[in-house]
Amino acid sequence: MSKTYKHLETKLIHAGEPEPLISGAVSMPIFQSSTFEYAGATSYHDLKYIRLNNTPNHIALHQKLAALENAEAALVTASGMAAITTTLLTILHSGNHLLAQECLYGGTHDFLTKDLETFGISYDFIDGDNPDSWKRQLRPNTKAIYVETMTNPLLQVADLKAVVEFARTNGLLSLIDNTFASPVNFRPPEWGFDLSLHSCTKYLNGHSDIVAGAVIGRADLIEKITHKLNHLGGSLDPHACFLLHRGLKTLAVRMRYQNESALKIAKFLEGHPVVNRINYPGLESHPRHQRASELFDGFSGMLSFELNDGVQAAEHFIQNTTLPISAPSLGGVETLITRPATTSHSGMSPEERQALGISDTLIRLSVGIEATEDIIEDFDKALKA
Ligand SMILES: *Cc1c(COP(=O)(O)O)cnc(C)c1O
Repeated sequence: MSKTYKHLETKLIHAGEPEPLISGAVSMPIFQSSTFEYAGATSYHDLKYIRLNNTPNHIALHQKLAALENAEAALVTASGMAAITTTLLTILHSGNHLLAQECLYGGTHDFLTKDLETFGISYDFIDGDNPDSWKRQLRPNTKAIYVETMTNPLLQVADLKAVVEFARTNGLLSLIDNTFASPVNFRPPEWGFDLSLHSCTKYLNGHSDIVAGAVIGRADLIEKITHKLNHLGGSLDPHACFLLHRGLKTLAVRMRYQNESALKIAKFLEGHPVVNRINYPGLESHPRHQRASELFDGFSGMLSFELNDGVQAAEHFIQNTTLPISAPSLGGVETLITRPATTSHSGMSPEERQALGISDTLIRLSVGIEATEDIIEDFDKALKA
């Protein structure tokens, strides 16, 4: 009988841990064994084997992740993209149609636009802020609606309550990529989403040292996705399971600090004369601040901004900062800075970027856990230079 825990901080430490502890080990040991002694399994999926996602390291993570979002079940995968693609290929079949938010993570956008049609699956992009328009894009073969908690890199917040409502009234599955919020700030199953997807590479692991993913939600769907993953093979290695398990334990302390630090940095940038525009849902000036405040417990460590001058000024600023590392990815303990036009969104044409409002001068920041004052001081100097 596994115990249940009330608060997320306690779940991060204790949920899913083996009972009794394995040889008394306080930290979950790594089961670096590809196969396990046959124990009478009657189904292929119940044979114990790393690719079948059922070693002790997988099971502990599944239980912990499900507990974090108050969901029925969870599954870890070899990357965020393995979670997303395996999920979409499980719930969508040839002849089905998908509605997806127009501004998506680059890899997801590429999968929809370049791969999905080869499986006989069609899609349409929707404006996440305009529920009235969704009905017009609905087709008799529409199966699911797919959104992100906060869009990258503009930190827009779609009408997430309307997404769940729309899915319910029209018999669709509701899916959300919750990577940017993490379960500390938002728990999609509590709001009625069927499935919540994560790149655990980001906040959940938090240390920029592995690639991993997760699907969290309804048990019947997670079982189907697990069976598909067993076939497609995007399973998480036990050593990466161990690192994710370890990283997860500090998620709440990291995320709360990053929430606070990003808000202070956003306020500093908002008040700076050379900053033209700042996107952070925690600021009252954000067009969807009220919606974000109702849905989220915090606004994450992600923000983006534009300077008054052009691309050269943006590049100059990035080069003049000394603390942030110029790199794509996000959610780690170190502050990362990037210009999405050259990294995360370089796969899009300039016209596509412009249509979404992603300018070439836009700078994206993933706030780490350094002292906030040090980052602000560094930025102040770089903005004056
Ligand atoms: C990084 C990211 C992904 C992809 O995750 P990987 O672990 O790199 O495969 C998906 N969605 C979002 C929002 C991301 O930031």
